[in-house]
Amino acid sequence: MARLPELAVFDLDYTLWPFWVDTHVDPPFHKSSDGTVRDSRGQTIRLYPEVPEVLERFGSLGVPVAIASRTGEIKGAKQLLELFDLVRYFVHEEIYPGSKVTHFERLQQKTGVPFCQMIFFDDETRNIVDVSKLGTEWCYLHSCPEWNESSNPNSRIRVICKGPS
Ligand SMILES: [Mg+2]
Repeated sequence: MARLPELAVFDLDYTLWPFWVDTHVDPPFHKSSDGTVRDSRGQTIRLYPEVPEVLERFGSLGVPVAIASRTGEIKGAKQLLELFDLVRYFVHEEIYPGSKVTHFERLQQKTGVPFCQMIFFDDETRNIVDVSKLGTEWCYLHSCPEWNESSNPNSRIRVICKGPS
C-alpha cells in the first residue's frame, strides 16, 4: 500500500471553491430558505462539487486535514467553511495574508508533522514554489478559468499535476 501523508493541507480560493472570497463575492454570507449559501447580494455560492467527498476520504483514511489560505477576507472565509459544514474536517485553519511558508511553519509547530510528510493542494504556482522549498509534497490544481457555476461541473478541466515525491 502506498505511503499516506501525515497531514493534508488545502488552499481555499480556486481549490475548495471557484472564486476569490475577497473580490468575487460579497460577504457576509448566509444560508437561504432553500438551503443554498448566498452572499449579501443574493448570489449563490458553491463549492467545487467533489470537495466534501475528498475531505471525507482523507478522514476515512485517518489523514488529518488543515487549511493554508492567504486571503485577507478571513471572516468571510471562516463563515463559508461553517455554512458549507466543512469546519469539522479541519484540525487547523491558518487563514491570513502573507507567504504560505509562515502558514506551514505554524502547522508544523502545531502538529509535529515534518514538512516531508505533508501534502499540499493549491492552484497558485507562487505558493507551490514557496512551500515546496520546505520539502513538502504538493499537487498543483489547475482550475479552468472558463468554468463557472452555469457550466456542467463534469465537463470542466481540472488537471492535477502531482509534485515530486
Ligand atoms: Mg488559491
